[in-house]
Amino acid sequence: MKKIAILGSTGSIGTQTLEVVEQNKTELQVVALSAGSNISLLEKQARKYQPQLVAVWDEKKAGELKENLADTDIKVLAGMEGLLSVATIESSDILVTAIVGMIGIRPTIAAIESGKDIALANKETLVTAGHIIMPLAKKCNVKILPVDSEHSAIFQSLNGEKGNKIDKILLTASGGPFRGKSYEELENVKVEDALKHPNWSMGKKITIDSATMVNKGLEVMEAKWLFDVSLGQIQVVVHPQSVLHSAVQFMDGAVIGQMGTPDMRLPILYALFYPNRRTLYAEELDLFSIGTLTFERPDMETFFGLSLAYDAADAGGNMPTVFNAANEKAVAMFLDNKIKFLEIPEIIAESMQEVYYQENPSLEEILNTEKATYEFIESRW
Ligand code: NDP
Repeated sequence: MKKIAILGSTGSIGTQTLEVVEQNKTELQVVALSAGSNISLLEKQARKYQPQLVAVWDEKKAGELKENLADTDIKVLAGMEGLLSVATIESSDILVTAIVGMIGIRPTIAAIESGKDIALANKETLVTAGHIIMPLAKKCNVKILPVDSEHSAIFQSLNGEKGNKIDKILLTASGGPFRGKSYEELENVKVEDALKHPNWSMGKKITIDSATMVNKGLEVMEAKWLFDVSLGQIQVVVHPQSVLHSAVQFMDGAVIGQMGTPDMRLPILYALFYPNRRTLYAEELDLFSIGTLTFERPDMETFFGLSLAYDAADAGGNMPTVFNAANEKAVAMFLDNKIKFLEIPEIIAESMQEVYYQENPSLEEILNTEKATYEFIESRW
């Protein structure tokens, strides 16, 4: 029985992880769950999966949940202490980081230090602290198993290829709901339009990130850390059908990729059972009904958030944190109808210009950079 803990069990990745558990009940057991504030769903999950521990970020909600679960033996914790306890719970073998935002960094580090393998969905962790996480995972002999569908595809394409030189990583992107649109056409797009992703069903923040293509920028940074390649080796390829989830081009010109339906449960399943595969009870890929696969270069001018991501990754140090924090703040402002869609990359660009640069930041310095970026944006917008 593999024992799993989940940070962010009430979100899009978290609930799909529980669906995978449901399909593999005889092999997977949930020992800890956590959420930000959605205690009604967390309570349902806790009653169904009977973990030892649940954690809620919001202290008040944690108190309420504690009362609601008083008839069970399930321990309820709050705040960062709760997240750290979920991440490091002794009985777990693997932690699924399905939490959104940089709040996931500390628990992920703690889990690695406790020897837990990581099924990593929380991309902010590697984007901002890849230089801390990757060497630490190596030192602690812990596996970082990508859950992001593109990175899982690359990971799968690298199976059995140890020692073979990678020429390029072909990181596919659907292009989001605004693919093919001009800058002017994006001037007045509404939140509802940006939330309509053509292929994937995801949390709100990442759906907006797909519309701006900032998500792809974050994935470029994530790929750089996961696969130890240079930025120049990562080519974003717009592929609107989302069938090829990404590929690796090797030195001999061979391109090996992974295809499938757009279903996050597949990379979750693969991460949980790596290196083995299990049956996924889901719709199968039907190449005949798809017929045609197309590929385009990304429009880095209209979607200049992607271009800024390459700049941030190239600058290194705390710049990916500035990029990420500015984007988080800008997306939240856009979702609140406080700014326009095109202001999202503008806010990122201005933050990258104005917030201080720092080489090789510690965890504390990363978190200070996040704060400084938020303060900068609050003072300007
Ligand atoms: P959601 O917004 O759907 O879910 C986020 C989860 O994190 C929820 O359980 C939420 O709890 C919890 N959470 C939020 N803030 C806190 C906090 N302060 N403390 C504790 N828990 C918190 O996000 P997604 O599932 O879409 O994404 C999760 C991560 O996975 C992101 O980093 C995203 O980039 C990445 N990812 C997502 C993909 C997808 O298909 N969705 C694909 C690839 C990567 P609550 O419900 O209570 O708010």
